[in-house]
Amino acid sequence: HKRIVAVIGAGTMGAGIAQVAAAYGHQVLLYDVAPDAARAAKAGLSQRLDSRVARAKMTADEANALLDRIRPVADLADLAGAGLVIEAIVEDLAIKQTVFAELEKTVADDAILATNTSSISVTSIARALAAPERMVGMHFFNPAPVMKLVEVVSGRATAPEVAQAVFDLAGAWGKVAVRAKSTPGFIVNRVARPFYAEALRLFEEQVASPATLDALMTDGGGFRMGPFALMDLIGHDVNYAVSQSVFDAFYQDPRFRPSLAQRELVNAGHLGRKSGRGFYDYAKDTSAPTPQTEPADPDLALPTPIDPM
Ligand code: NAD
Repeated sequence: HKRIVAVIGAGTMGAGIAQVAAAYGHQVLLYDVAPDAARAAKAGLSQRLDSRVARAKMTADEANALLDRIRPVADLADLAGAGLVIEAIVEDLAIKQTVFAELEKTVADDAILATNTSSISVTSIARALAAPERMVGMHFFNPAPVMKLVEVVSGRATAPEVAQAVFDLAGAWGKVAVRAKSTPGFIVNRVARPFYAEALRLFEEQVASPATLDALMTDGGGFRMGPFALMDLIGHDVNYAVSQSVFDAFYQDPRFRPSLAQRELVNAGHLGRKSGRGFYDYAKDTSAPTPQTEPADPDLALPTPIDPM
């Protein structure tokens, strides 16, 4: 069962992680609690692979073989055969714990249970398990097929050989694995919090528009994406939940206070690219899907800004 990888959650990250595992020859079982989400994710991937074939980035045979290795399944129990499970569901401790507790009863005793959480304590998620030593953080970045970095996060109980196995696997998948301890936000998301938070404060203070601030950070600061375009790519529900989680984990340190303006975007359902609108409007260019291929992809072209000022 070592070749079988299960991915739980077929959203932005789960779809990308499934693609990576399948690209490296694994059979992938893809499960989502929302009926049809796994099949929709596979259909979306099929379209993105078609566009790669059209641009001669891969052959049609390679694309078909990759797709054939991904099997959407309807029940958590269908993941029984997996040697590695990677969870990429909603950023919520209680929900992740419930899923892992149920999953543990299903999979083999030596299966590794990994979470793609951006910020939640791996130690805390593992508390839900009878065998917490087999849980580890395997934190990909968005888009998972493009971004090289994977943070391998050990909680208090994580067995060193479990962390090592995931570290080695990430390397075999062409990633750059970095070890991290289970501290709130781990490394990248902790360092990145002020990038989003200060940008959101400037926006709330009406210092400049998101489009202007993004242009300043890319053209002047040398960042590949500005904070608003990046939050739209991540998803505001996810980005807000991560901010809330890091804020709470640091005893509500005001440095990490989440943004009310971002919470309003979540309240409105303006979640960014995945809902067609966030700080920018993506509806005007429906042909531009979420980038899932390579960085120089035209899909990464910026959408039309909505100027809320
Ligand atoms: P998303 O909203 O795009 O997708 C989440 C999916 O999980 C949805 O399809 C939802 O139906 C499904 N889901 C929710 N509860 C479930 C359950 N109980 N069982 C099975 N499926 C369930 O979210 P995302 O952006 O893919 O984020 C998923 C995880 O990855 C989060 O923990 C997030 O913090 C982390 N992450 C996100 C990013 C990012 O940039 N978006 C980057 C790295 C890590």
